[in-house]
Amino acid sequence: MTDDITLRLDRATAEDLHATLYEVGEHLAAGAPITPPTTEEAVRLGNLLRELGHRLGRACSPYCDHLV
Ligand SMILES: [Zn+2]
Repeated sequence: MTDDITLRLDRATAEDLHATLYEVGEHLAAGAPITPPTTEEAVRLGNLLRELGHRLGRACSPYCDHLV
């Protein structure tokens, strides 16, 4: 039995994830500024975070009924 999880990302979300990880890395390594996301980017990243949390077995809110 594997403990892997699988996420399928659309291209825009994958680009947002790449940019975010890169910028956070540069920020931690050299203090580079982190660009605030646009509203669309924030929505995509929020959806990704919620989905990732669900795949890890975490509820997205006290009222989450997404986990079956
Ligand atoms: Zn949920």
